[in-house]
Amino acid sequence: MGMGPLGIGTRYQRQQMIDITVEKAFNMFMEYTHYNVDARLVKQYFSLSGDTIEWLEDLGVEFEGAFRYFPRSEATWHIVKTDQGIGPRAASFMVKALYEKAQELGVTILLQTTAKKIIMENGKVAGVSAVDKDGNEIIIKCNAAIICNGGGGSNKKLIKDETGLDHGENLFSFAIPGLEGDGLRMAWEAGADKLPVRIEMAASLEGMDELPPGVSMVFNQPNLLVNKFGKRIMNEDQMQNATFLSNAAAHQKDKVVFSIVDSSIVKYYIRNGVDHVSLVRNNPDVTDFNDGIKTAKENENKYIFSADSIAELAGKAGIDPAGLEETVDQYNDFCDTRDEEFFKDQRYMRPIAKAPYYCARIRPGGYGTVGGIRINENCEVLNRDFDKIEGLYAAGADACNIYDDSYMFLLPGNSMGFAVNTGRLAAMSAVEYAEGGEK
Ligand SMILES: Cc1cc2nc3c(=O)[nH]c(=O)nc-3n(C[C@H](O)[C@H](O)[C@H](O)COP(=O)(O)OP(=O)(O)OC[C@H]3O[C@@H](n4cnc5c(N)ncnc54)[C@H](O)[C@@H]3O)c2cc1C
Repeated sequence: MGMGPLGIGTRYQRQQMIDITVEKAFNMFMEYTHYNVDARLVKQYFSLSGDTIEWLEDLGVEFEGAFRYFPRSEATWHIVKTDQGIGPRAASFMVKALYEKAQELGVTILLQTTAKKIIMENGKVAGVSAVDKDGNEIIIKCNAAIICNGGGGSNKKLIKDETGLDHGENLFSFAIPGLEGDGLRMAWEAGADKLPVRIEMAASLEGMDELPPGVSMVFNQPNLLVNKFGKRIMNEDQMQNATFLSNAAAHQKDKVVFSIVDSSIVKYYIRNGVDHVSLVRNNPDVTDFNDGIKTAKENENKYIFSADSIAELAGKAGIDPAGLEETVDQYNDFCDTRDEEFFKDQRYMRPIAKAPYYCARIRPGGYGTVGGIRINENCEVLNRDFDKIEGLYAAGADACNIYDDSYMFLLPGNSMGFAVNTGRLAAMSAVEYAEGGEK
């Protein structure tokens, strides 16, 4: 469903005069994670990532170039070229190219077939047991296996057990069908050391599904964000980093925050376009906002509110009215002077002063789970003693233990980048092992 992987030191970056090096990215990353991750794995991944972009091109994948996710991020996101321009699901064209190449090479692909167990003999991989769509067991004999089952983003119980979060109640993440955590379970059963499974957090606006895009676009702009007490929670200028916003939301009472605008701000956006766009949502035009609010009212949308006074808006949304009135008063003063509370850029300080007022709920969200299987920098799976489990490799979200507690959006394309690069590394190690070499 994504748009493209990270690459560092690629020809696109050179052509676009973008100055990002493995050294800079590595140092940024290690400081961001407080060195609470495997530096050898991070270095190996970043070092290979430029070459991987060219490798993908050799396999028939085309790229639009190297992009930022938001202005403060680095241009590491290599968006895959499609037949419809830049947009969500672009990376499906990469998957298609890889699939076609695999078929050309004679790879056997078993669709609708679920891997169930890694068969171990004398502490080494001896095969994989799977079940096809009719329930027939298939045994694949092999001495090397790579686990890359994408984590457990749709497994509510796994998410609750591992993170304490309740999907659908206080976590609103993508739940990609089929991502049940099978790879994690199979690896742990085979003796892999268990590392924390985390959610790759990115905030989510509630109740937007049936509404035109202008509604979510307006509520994603850096205006006023408050919690249930009506108090501000952050410098809203930082909310473009969806991981930061998700983390901030997760720290509030009932894990909810509210984005508030007034009708002057809406009118300004309708006239001029919004302040911030992204490549995922790249249309600054929000002329459909008022129609969207109408639809929300007709559909009795429980997450979007409008009112003629701040107190009424607070009452409808479940925010403390006195707290919100006090915050709005103070915020409007800051608009005339400077944001003494969180130092937001004055460009985005617009008063909340003209009725009707609008409010939407933002909750912690995420792309899926990351991490759980301990690997080394060659993607060999390790047991609790840090010994290699012979013949077992892991890649992608199942083995993505490199973010510590927060997704690193400042280097966008990081999770698909980790997946394709560790996929390559795991394959290189597995081939060497299968052919009788060291790894
Ligand atoms: C909406 C969205 C947008 C995203 N955008 C980006 C982006 O632009 N850039 C970026 O870097 N990342 C992005 N991501 C994250 C990125 O897509 C993932 O990190 C990446 O796909 C992980 O790759 P993977 O190979 O580990 O797992 P997946 O791509 O999830 O593949 C795992 C596969 O294993 C299959 N599987 C599961 N269990 C079994 C089993 N028991 N037997 C057989 N097969 C099984 C699954 O069906 C699936 O096909 C996005 C994610 C989402 C949801």
